Amino acid sequence: MAKKKKTIKEKVLALIPKLSQDEFEEVAQFVELNHINFHIDNLQREVKETRYSKGQYTCPFCHGTHVVKNGTKKGLQRYLCRHCHKSFSDQTATPSCHSKKSPKLWLQYLKCMLSGYTIRKCAEECKINIATSFFWRHKILDALATAVGVGDLEGLIEADETFFRYNRKGNFTKVRSYKKGVRTSTGRTTKQTKKKKRGLSHEQVAVGTALDRLGNLKMGLICTGRLEYPALKRFYEGYISANSTLCTDSAHGYSTLSEELHLNHIKIASGKRKKDIYHIQHINSLHSRLKAFMSDFKGVATKHLQNYLYWFKFIEIFKSERESIKLERAYVLSQANYTDCSVEAIRTRTPAFV
Ligand SMILES: [Zn+2]
Repeated sequence: MAKKKKTIKEKVLALIPKLSQDEFEEVAQFVELNHINFHIDNLQREVKETRYSKGQYTCPFCHGTHVVKNGTKKGLQRYLCRHCHKSFSDQTATPSCHSKKSPKLWLQYLKCMLSGYTIRKCAEECKINIATSFFWRHKILDALATAVGVGDLEGLIEADETFFRYNRKGNFTKVRSYKKGVRTSTGRTTKQTKKKKRGLSHEQVAVGTALDRLGNLKMGLICTGRLEYPALKRFYEGYISANSTLCTDSAHGYSTLSEELHLNHIKIASGKRKKDIYHIQHINSLHSRLKAFMSDFKGVATKHLQNYLYWFKFIEIFKSERESIKLERAYVLSQANYTDCSVEAIRTRTPAFV
């Protein structure tokens, strides 16, 4: 008797056990992101609910709460602020405000971002130009930055800094010819005049990271080169509750910080992994996830690094959620928060050191 032909479903199911764990996770992520139908109307309703979660309409301009309905335009409800007399809709000052592209395409764009694609790859996938892709990414990240917040820490806290090479990408006008010995965007010089700088130079950007056991996370640019105490203090002051316990490696600065902010300081000597319940393993593994995350983007300009740190933080917060939940959260939180940055303001940003 002829063997019954396998259906496509049977073929796919038969192949799954042959995948490695990593491959399987990649496939599962792809299926979830690309083959689950998201109902834009439901998402938009959730955006509205999140935006006005305090139970009243607030004005995106002056944040006043004396707001009245003011008719509809193109199917969107308009509101009038009695305080600053400006009129707005649910779309005003969101990342997709003034965009002629559909909400579906914005969702598609977020899918690409969650897949860790570069600005160029996102542009290709969504069939938009690179400049638009760049602008969308930063408007989304600006809005998400408000959503994920700076981060207050308490209890048992691990802190350490990690370094990134200073990247000046986007700070130059178009260079027609590439000359030997000319500084490139990463600040490296080409072979002819290459000089090795030893230790920590100002070509290194110190990124402060601290994490408590409740999952609160604070990340940001501190300074370039060697970490000086005043910058460290500016970075943490006001963000750590008094009487918390701070675990760090032997690096100096944290002892003084602990004294001034009234914290208990536990120093983990280099080479030692643990001192009872105190260790810095969570922050160390966070650093390796951060490095892997950043390497996907193939060189981020230092002036935009803070926004990528917020994106990383978003992914960390939702890391144990399913891909579809991450996507939904990314859409709702980015659309429910305000961003009013122009293309020019984003392009001419300067690195935000403390
Ligand atoms: Zn107002």
